[in-house]
Amino acid sequence: MSERLATEVCIVGGGLVGCATALALARRRTPCVLVERERCGTHASGVNYGGVRRQGRALEELPLAARARRMWGRLAVLVGHDSEFRPTGHLRLARDAAELAALEQWAAEAARLDVRCEILGPHALAARWPWLGSGLAGGSFCADDGQANPRLTTLLFARAAREQGARILEQKPVTAVERSRRGFRVVIQGGSEIQTRVLVNTAGAWGPAIAALLGEELPGEVIAPNMLVSEPLPYRIEPNLGMAGPGIYLRQVPTGSVIFGGGRGAADLAKARCRPLFSTTLATLAEARRIVPGLASATIIRSWAGIEGRMPDDRPVIGPSARVPGLFHAFGFSGHGFMLAPAVGAVLAELILDGHSSTSLAGLGPARFAQRPAAFA
Ligand SMILES: Cc1cc2nc3c(=O)[nH]c(=O)nc-3n(C[C@H](O)[C@H](O)[C@H](O)COP(=O)(O)OP(=O)(O)OC[C@H]3O[C@@H](n4cnc5c(N)ncnc54)[C@H](O)[C@@H]3O)c2cc1C
Repeated sequence: MSERLATEVCIVGGGLVGCATALALARRRTPCVLVERERCGTHASGVNYGGVRRQGRALEELPLAARARRMWGRLAVLVGHDSEFRPTGHLRLARDAAELAALEQWAAEAARLDVRCEILGPHALAARWPWLGSGLAGGSFCADDGQANPRLTTLLFARAAREQGARILEQKPVTAVERSRRGFRVVIQGGSEIQTRVLVNTAGAWGPAIAALLGEELPGEVIAPNMLVSEPLPYRIEPNLGMAGPGIYLRQVPTGSVIFGGGRGAADLAKARCRPLFSTTLATLAEARRIVPGLASATIIRSWAGIEGRMPDDRPVIGPSARVPGLFHAFGFSGHGFMLAPAVGAVLAELILDGHSSTSLAGLGPARFAQRPAAFA
């Protein structure tokens, strides 16, 4: 049955960014409708690795990440249930002197933005985490970082947003958007329409396609991070582990399973489908076994991939459109938006309702792509 709805804010995309935006707006009693093509959390937000880290981010993201980290600490109160966030720390490992120097430099720069990392040499590393393999040059440990359960988190935000009064429409693909006298006319497959004053584009890897419906050209490529999970093993690996350069990342959940990420699977954006690649899975396992030799006999029970949007500079696009008044973007999180998402929702609500935010978005706005041609490395 087709419907005609009118609202203040319409959000396209029910990943964690869209659901966090709906919750932040609903908490301020702003009428909003979120439209999701599938189910909330079907894509990147629901299938990601679950890393909640500030360490290793572009410095431009740190103000937002600091706000997000404060929110993760009290998420259970905000959404009414435990998202399994645990501040287990994030340990970033260096394979050689150059990688260790890069970790030291990042730690020095991030310290000015209030992120504290402890740099450890190979002996300190081995003494503290004896299950690590030999041959590492050192590491950097950020004790405040951690991990959470992505399968729960988006659903909790969606539920909390509904309870606060947001309307969430699932299995409703947006097929067209037009400017209208009051703002925008959003057309949903099947004939329903939404009249809205403000439009928020949180369509993830499909963000550039939503922008293009309103004539705004923004770059974006699709990537499919490749993931695997082991059978439950005795719990030993407390911190969330990553590498200083490109490579694998892994974490162990308290019930014992080890979740591994690294490399890419294959994605088809038009069909909204993706799959892990066996060759990537084998390469991830081989490297993981070098980093944590005790994982050599672990049985892998499942592998998967997720569809993610990547920007040419590996930073998301967040803020008002440079071309279309009333349109706001938040997409292209380039493989690390799960951690940021709660704060992105809060900041978008401030931008929409107050015209400004207390959190800096310098270096993250869409205007950076209006000024220079964007090329992917
Ligand atoms: C495998 C994997 C591992 C990752 N690991 C981490 C990690 O450890 N830590 C971290 O911080 N980040 C991680 N990320 C990145 C993180 O998951 C994403 O950056 C984040 O979830 C993006 O959220 P989103 O809401 O922008 O996008 P999505 O979750 O992709 O949501 C966008 C939604 O928009 C909907 N949509 C699109 N077009 C339309 C339309 N026309 N009409 C209606 N709805 C539409 C889609 O169906 C989708 O549900 C990982 C990503 C992947 C894929």
